[in-house]
Amino acid sequence: MKVTAVIAAGGRGERLGGSRPKQLLLLGGRAILERSVAAFVAHPAIAEVVVALPADVATDPPSYLRGRSKPVVVVAGGARRQDSVARAFLAADVASDIVVVHDAARPFVSADLITRTIDAAAESGAAMAAVPSRDTVKRVDRRELPHLVAHTLPRDEIYLAQTPQAFRRDVLRDALALGQTADATDEAALVERAGHPVRVVEGEASNIKVTTAADLAMAEAMVRGGGGAGVRVGTGYDLHRLVEGRLLVLGGVAVPSDRGALGHSDADVACHAITDAILGAAGLGDIGRMFPDADPRWKDASSLDLLARAAALAVEHGYEVGNVDVTIVLERPKIREHIDAMRTAVAKAIDIEPARVSVKGKTNEGVDAVGRGEAIAAHAVALVRARSLKPEA
Ligand code: MG
Repeated sequence: MKVTAVIAAGGRGERLGGSRPKQLLLLGGRAILERSVAAFVAHPAIAEVVVALPADVATDPPSYLRGRSKPVVVVAGGARRQDSVARAFLAADVASDIVVVHDAARPFVSADLITRTIDAAAESGAAMAAVPSRDTVKRVDRRELPHLVAHTLPRDEIYLAQTPQAFRRDVLRDALALGQTADATDEAALVERAGHPVRVVEGEASNIKVTTAADLAMAEAMVRGGGGAGVRVGTGYDLHRLVEGRLLVLGGVAVPSDRGALGHSDADVACHAITDAILGAAGLGDIGRMFPDADPRWKDASSLDLLARAAALAVEHGYEVGNVDVTIVLERPKIREHIDAMRTAVAKAIDIEPARVSVKGKTNEGVDAVGRGEAIAAHAVALVRARSLKPEA
């Protein structure tokens, strides 16, 4: 089953004020849009992500949409939300079985909710996340001031629609065709009108839509967790022997050298140390436990691939990687001119911006095995953050 994610980010977010579209605002140092896109890029079921942006933003999209670990396609949105989704739908891979639509303004969606929505759509054709209303809902007559309650709706039957909303490709195609002549505030409404049943999947209270300044303040509190809660750090260390006749791979980059690191995989000490730092920060063990030497699957494995798997596992466990910093210790060759390429490669594997990856080189001043050129070592630290702290029930 092939799944395309559509991120609806075409709106200008006027309710938050200011000239900047709300989805581009920063939340704990990362744009709301980046957080929403990252949730889908990291999800194992998603093959590609199509982002509908305001036309002026689409001509020069934010850098965090480039160089991700999966294809991210940018399209210019339309006048209405449904027009933006329709344009994104046209850009989606025609081989997709399911298209899952998500509001860019809901950065806290969990991997579990994405999975449940996709699974329900695969079974029933259409599914949407929704939460039961905890407040009593009134219909209000707004024709005159003061506004008066017209009547009270039965609360048991009231659900508040969220995204993700997932659809079989043909179901969404029919609904979007109907949307050319009808207005709706979400895709599920068009699907209903097209006569398809829409299944309700239990949504999440933490899956808030950042629409007003108050929402933004709440979202900031969820990210920061009241100062450092949910922030974790990990360290990693690795050392390999240097021998003749091996390629020297560092941070995923082949560095010209008369000797290379000896090991089961490509023996990339930088990637191994970073992998351990991320696993350590997320409390997920270490590289040896995850990718045992004795397992033939990891013989000659690309350490960048192992790093990507470890980072994806951290995301599956509810963490996002904030930044990583690695120091590579070797006598020669000099690695300075390769550092940018390493940062780019490592960032792509972890699925973060290169600005969040630091690579430094050091010699051991001729001391010890590293100093004699018999070995190469690396030290790394990683910071991870819980993607969302569930609000108190
Ligand atoms: Mg190693």
